[in-house]
Amino acid sequence: MITLKNVSKYYYNKGIIAIGFTKVNIHLEVGEFVAITGESGSGKSTLLNVISGLDSYEEGEMYINGKETSHYTERDFEEYRRTYISNIFQNFNLVNSYTVLQNIELVLLIHGASQKDAKKRALELIRKVGLTKYKNTKASKLSGGQKQRVAIARALAKETPILIADEPTGNLDVKSARDIIQILHDISKDKLVIIVTHNYDQVKDYVTRKITMHDGRILEDKKLLPISWKEIKIDLDENHLTIFSKIRLGVRNAFNIIPKFLLVFLVYLFVVTAVISEYAFFLKQEYTSSKSGYNNFFMDTNDTRLILKKKDQTSFNEEDYQNLDKIKEVDYIIENDLLLDTSVGLRNEETNFYFDGILYDVKNFHATPDLGRLPENDNEILLAGSKDDYYLGYQAKDILNCQVYLQDMFGSENKDRPLTVVGIFYEEPTNYYSSGKIYANTVVLENLKFSINREYSDIKILFLNHYHNSYPYDIHYQVIPSDRVMEGEVYISGDLNYLCKKENCLGESLVVDVDNLYYQDSLTLQVTQTYTKKNMENLLGVKDYENQNGAIYINQGQYQSLFDKENYQSSIFLQDVKYVEEVSEKLENSGYNVLKIKDTLVTGGALEALKIIRTIITSILVITLFFIAYFVIRIILKSRNIYFGTIRILGSTKKEAKQLLEIELFTVSNLAYFIFLGILFLQHKNVLNLAFLATILKYLSRIDYIILYLIINGMSYFISLRFARKIFKNSAMSTMREDV
Ligand code: ADP
Ligand code: MG
Repeated sequence: MITLKNVSKYYYNKGIIAIGFTKVNIHLEVGEFVAITGESGSGKSTLLNVISGLDSYEEGEMYINGKETSHYTERDFEEYRRTYISNIFQNFNLVNSYTVLQNIELVLLIHGASQKDAKKRALELIRKVGLTKYKNTKASKLSGGQKQRVAIARALAKETPILIADEPTGNLDVKSARDIIQILHDISKDKLVIIVTHNYDQVKDYVTRKITMHDGRILEDKKLLPISWKEIKIDLDENHLTIFSKIRLGVRNAFNIIPKFLLVFLVYLFVVTAVISEYAFFLKQEYTSSKSGYNNFFMDTNDTRLILKKKDQTSFNEEDYQNLDKIKEVDYIIENDLLLDTSVGLRNEETNFYFDGILYDVKNFHATPDLGRLPENDNEILLAGSKDDYYLGYQAKDILNCQVYLQDMFGSENKDRPLTVVGIFYEEPTNYYSSGKIYANTVVLENLKFSINREYSDIKILFLNHYHNSYPYDIHYQVIPSDRVMEGEVYISGDLNYLCKKENCLGESLVVDVDNLYYQDSLTLQVTQTYTKKNMENLLGVKDYENQNGAIYINQGQYQSLFDKENYQSSIFLQDVKYVEEVSEKLENSGYNVLKIKDTLVTGGALEALKIIRTIITSILVITLFFIAYFVIRIILKSRNIYFGTIRILGSTKKEAKQLLEIELFTVSNLAYFIFLGILFLQHKNVLNLAFLATILKYLSRIDYIILYLIINGMSYFISLRFARKIFKNSAMSTMREDV
């Protein structure tokens, strides 16, 4: 069956060559019970390892069933071992953290048995070696004799034609040793049994052949009994671990050494926490810097703000507002949205009062004033702002119940409509650029909207086929309302008569065109009067002809109608910035044009820089953590060399062993990840209250969690890959003895 011709095995160790054995010639056949003896260091173990295919040889040729093996690859030897060889060792090589049953099941599973069959067969074998009582005892708790019985049961489970035992009784007392030899003898029929022993007397009653080694050579090779030649049929064992068994074993390995599990788990939990916290920290910074951005057009840069216009360019009606109010992510609606972006000044020169703010409807004020009360009448207002503000803070008492005036578009006080400050509320500004707030009733808001519409409008006069621009600072073609002018009529300066046919403009038509961001409107009027220095006061009640000549006087009500408009633009504020995309899309689909304020902010490149820095630092962190985790886990897993060496000796392939390791690490890393999510959930439910968890909850979106999950499992995969490369780069035997 096995033939060695002039085979030599050397060890190369740091430039020193040691001889394992040299020029060995033997032929071994099924049916033999061979004892190999010789003093320590004579090469017995080395010879067994070479015959077992656990180690390579350097010279000569080994034949298996007549086939040369010098060209065998790692895989060929794996196949050979699986099919032909069972090993029993002096130090047992059991998986100490497995029970007796699990140890024997392991080899059956490796050879493709189902869990059910493996258990049944394992129990039979355990009975055969007399250990039924101990089937659920961990291997580490057994005596030496019991351990060796387990090893024998395990070797039998493989059902191979060759059984190789290297000093199986070396660590046993006399009684146990005798039992073991007896069992080996009982099972040796139809097998080739090779046993190395120091104590030849123990085996001399059973052996058919005695080989004595000395100094790496065979000194004596004596056949003691004739052997009963028997042809045996050998099927290649091509069954491997089922996927189910792999998962079972991988998961079992993750947990079955508790201290190892805890250490690996803590490393992963640390990695998960570090990566996620760092990631959240950067998202927070990005968010903060995006908030501190500015914008030339909008003063209210709250990132939850969405500015809406209707796609059909009509104004907002009650139904629109009701529908917007139904969207559950909407916090509040500002119908008169223009006001949000217009800072208005409140002045009183007499009391030396000076305050800038944005005008809000008092129905959006939901707190209790710190001083005074809420506005009730149309001319009452409430001011909100920082306590550090000179007027609101130090002069608050003096301001309360004082009259103030809205500054008009030219910066002077509008004394027509005095307002009274009836309440003050203190709040810190939400961002650097925000100013104070003025809460008022609808009338004040409507008036301001009117002024804004007028201020933002381009007004053009079409007269005698020519357009003339109308500017507020230039009296020529400036449109002025008058209650003396009838609807549809317009009074113009007599100075224009010379432009008209027969120097008479009466009856000519004049169009006032109004155009702004939100709407267009126009009035077609007929010239019914021309005023002169003489008749102006009479006609219009205007005395100051010198300064007023050139203006265009139209009906008061019609003038009002040009600028007193419904809202063409409104803003909604969402409960959280995370709803912005979702709600925008919904609104775009239901007839609104949406401008997301958060996309309009200019941050001077800080945001882009932050993103790049985030990517770099995250990468460095992930790589650093990877190596820390790798080295720590490697130290922890070092003790597992024996395990992986063992399962390979039992017949698993390199690949399978690697997969088991992957599943093991994957189990722990997933556990760490999901436990961390569990901790986050507790924070979410307010069971925990930790600032860094709150930050993570606030800034991470679902996609971030998925990305992080992939990063962490990717790390886990690479750790097992690297570890596997080290652990499995050599033969099974060197995995066992080597410090990885
Ligand atoms: P035995 O089993 O008969 O006691 P071994 O086969 O273990 O002897 O050893 C045979 C020779 O090979 C000894 O000289 C020993 O020092 C050497 N040897 C065994 N294993 C190694 C190894 N891993 N590296 C270097 N030399 C080794
Ligand atoms: Mg030895």
